[in-house]
Amino acid sequence: MNKKLVMIPGPTPVVRSIQDQMGRETVAFGDPAFVKDYKELIDDLKLLWKTEGEVFVIAGTGTLAMEMAIANTTKAGDNVLIISQGFFGDRFIDLCQRKGLKVDVLASEWGDVVPLAEIEAKLKEKKYSVVTVTHVDTATGVVAPIEEIGKLIRGFKDTLYIVDGVCATAAEPEYVDEMGIDVLLTGSQKAFGVAPGIAVVWAGPRAMERRKSLGTIPEFYIDFDKWLPIMKDPSKYFATPAVNLIWAMKEAVQIIKEEGLEKRYLRHKKNAKAVQSALLALGFKILAKEGCRAVSLSNVIYPEGINDLEFRKILAEEGIVVAGGLGPYAGKLFRLGHMGNIDTHDLVSAIATIERALYRVGYHVELGKGVGVLMKGLLD
Ligand SMILES: *Cc1c(COP(=O)(O)O)cnc(C)c1O
Repeated sequence: MNKKLVMIPGPTPVVRSIQDQMGRETVAFGDPAFVKDYKELIDDLKLLWKTEGEVFVIAGTGTLAMEMAIANTTKAGDNVLIISQGFFGDRFIDLCQRKGLKVDVLASEWGDVVPLAEIEAKLKEKKYSVVTVTHVDTATGVVAPIEEIGKLIRGFKDTLYIVDGVCATAAEPEYVDEMGIDVLLTGSQKAFGVAPGIAVVWAGPRAMERRKSLGTIPEFYIDFDKWLPIMKDPSKYFATPAVNLIWAMKEAVQIIKEEGLEKRYLRHKKNAKAVQSALLALGFKILAKEGCRAVSLSNVIYPEGINDLEFRKILAEEGIVVAGGLGPYAGKLFRLGHMGNIDTHDLVSAIATIERALYRVGYHVELGKGVGVLMKGLLD
């Protein structure tokens, strides 16, 4: 029996040193050593993602972080512009409509980005409270040009810029203040390589000012005002922190510091290029167009004649678990995560296993071809 390697776009493989933190005996949330660890995590996250503002690290998933971003920057009746490159971009639509926001959507074709000129034209038409952009949409594997969009939005002084980094943060470069991002949000289980359960929200100075101007907001658990005193002094209580997951996040950040965040971004870029070249050499197509391909995952379109469920079942038997396609691409592609704390062994195994699965479903494949291309890419 082969070991199962989980290569879905989150949760991603959790390395031993992070598992060990989750397996520790849980202490009181007021334990001085824990309070110190929590505070160090908060300080490191602000420093590494470069904001003069605040960061909130609380129990919840990426979706909670999305809701937290909207809750603290808008009030019912406000205009919001949603820039969507797929399923997770679209998730903001329902979320914002339930809050009573007036929603405009700019959606790209799946596999492409929304052109900057379209965004600019829309911003000139109407005053938006916030604009949301999904940095990497997991449904399409497309990466949005967040820096360029940030520059555009800076020209509209009453508009805040929210970036969903759930499938990007710690893999794709993100600098909160420098890129003009007002709120960046993410979850623990993607490129941080931690189990699911922690939501992280960075809020730059403009976002904190906006929160102040809103007064009391209807939401309770996700109110910045409720959490700010705890982020400044984690010995205080608002709602119980996920003690072991906070430790796990701290270890993930320690790993990032040891690797170097810039080096981590470069590693992701190189790995993604090598993996994508290998997949193309095997006869697959990549949904995202060249020029907007994410480094965190690949959405891999099958050649003619391969049955998705059969292929993924055999792939899992051979030891690699991948995710299926979403929306219009259900049954047409599989999604391969290659973000976080995965290493060369994992990548070689993934491509070799994909070759074995192709062979077993009767697709003509020259065994070793993808692995050869991958290794060349990794060594270049
Ligand atoms: C996974 C993902 C989410 C949702 O995160 P959950 O932790 O599942 O709630 C949101 N946005 C993007 C871009 C994602 O990839």
